[in-house]
Amino acid sequence: MKKIGVFTSGGDAPGMNACIRAVVRTAIHHGLEVVGIMKGYQGIVDKDFIPMTAHSVSNIIQQGGTILKSARCTEFRTKKGRKKAYKNLKAAGIDGVVAIGGDGTFTGAAVFMKEYPDIKFVGCPGTIDNDLHGIDFTIGYDTAINTAMTAIDKIKDTANADARLFFIEVMGRDVGFIALRSGIATGAETVLIPETSTSIEELVETIEYHYERKKASIIVIVAEGEEMGGAVKVAKKVSKRFTALSTRVTILGHIQRGGSPTAMERVNASWMGLEAVKALLAGKKGIMVGIVKNEIMHTPFEKAIKHNQEISSKLLEMVKILA
Ligand code: ATP
Repeated sequence: MKKIGVFTSGGDAPGMNACIRAVVRTAIHHGLEVVGIMKGYQGIVDKDFIPMTAHSVSNIIQQGGTILKSARCTEFRTKKGRKKAYKNLKAAGIDGVVAIGGDGTFTGAAVFMKEYPDIKFVGCPGTIDNDLHGIDFTIGYDTAINTAMTAIDKIKDTANADARLFFIEVMGRDVGFIALRSGIATGAETVLIPETSTSIEELVETIEYHYERKKASIIVIVAEGEEMGGAVKVAKKVSKRFTALSTRVTILGHIQRGGSPTAMERVNASWMGLEAVKALLAGKKGIMVGIVKNEIMHTPFEKAIKHNQEISSKLLEMVKILA
């Protein structure tokens, strides 16, 4: 292997820059040429490649977002688009690629490698959702829960001042990891997530229970993909039952994607980026590099994209006991 490419794809996540930096500097350290591919698969289809040097990734470890930009590319989903991508990679002499992204990104890489097995793809898990198998904390997840925690702490200050019932919506279309961890970290009274179903009656009972215990405020964290349709809808259904409390809704939205990555994020993203290049040099392909129990683990793309639901139920139990 002489030349590799690196790109970020799907939803951007804090820590992606730390990972890019590690890929570039590890590649150079091992005598490889490295190019940055702009805007994920779109950049491969459009041949949007930029040569990277150790200097190109200076001063980015602390920055959120991604210097290589990210995009969702429909052309790559077609055979024609992937053929164009293959021709562009071959013409540029790229024989290995580090893909930083989520389940869609790895699905795309797996489909591509079935058609063009001579280009080796290795993945790093970049998504705030933590919805991948073979990784304890995806790149972006730790920063996202810290951002949500800081925002919820502030909301709690004002909620406590005036006996308020707050519904706070956090990101998580298919999984409730951000909701659960930020809920535990802020002492939320309850958390609604896509993995479990909670009826309005159950929710009302929970809120009544905390109200009767004379809690200063009641915070309900709602994952956006929760089955009742998000915080606004849930609040509408529940608020009329609690006239003594003033009800408020806050949707945290995209602030959860931005911001400077946490120390843990920077270290882990750097470690995974470094290991991804080492994996390519060792001839590996079709795997995601993850950290499980502080050890590097290689998980085939097909397995990595299967959502890991197990942790959610453990965290949910914590919310119930500790609230
Ligand atoms: P996030 O978890 O943040 O949403 P992601 O990697 O899952 O990130 P997607 O938009 O689902 O984000 O996927 C990224 C890109 O991967 C798509 O825009 C598309 O170019 C490519 N891709 C996804 N699925 C396929 C597929 N089945 N075949 C080919 N390419 C695909």
